[in-house]
Amino acid sequence: MANKYNCEKCSKKGVYTYIDKHFCENHFLEIVEKTVRRNFRKYKIQKNEDLRIDGSLAKYFVDKVLTMPYKISKKDSARVITEITLDDLDVAFLDNILNNSSNVLFNEKFINIFENLPSSVINDFCKIKNISFTKKVSKLEKDLSLLESKYPGTKNSLFKCVKQLGELK
Ligand SMILES: [Zn+2]
Repeated sequence: MANKYNCEKCSKKGVYTYIDKHFCENHFLEIVEKTVRRNFRKYKIQKNEDLRIDGSLAKYFVDKVLTMPYKISKKDSARVITEITLDDLDVAFLDNILNNSSNVLFNEKFINIFENLPSSVINDFCKIKNISFTKKVSKLEKDLSLLESKYPGTKNSLFKCVKQLGELK
């Protein structure tokens, strides 16, 4: 399908979508990396902290973003740099409400560096960078993506609710 949008930041074609904005490849990579960098800062990783790393994409960003020394650990007490996306968090939240289950994705041990990035964005990023990232998509997640296509921003709004409720606890 031909894309009629230009990049938000330059005059190139906006081939990639980030939330409801369009970006060329370079600017798309830039905005994803900037977001992940900001997320890393929120979690305040300590110098020489024991860390577990969830997969090759998480490892890619640890190598790229984390400037301080850290220790790869298998200890249960170590925090985990996860590949949990915005969709995962939204779906877990909805699943908890709709099915009265207790999916725990907000765990103080989790460093969710993709917490505000939709899976579609992460998938595109990995395709461009040739990093393997596979995730099975649940029915609920498909429905959520359908909602997102009708009402851009749904996933992010839901995430804000999740965060606010988390803070109330
Ligand atoms: Zn651009």
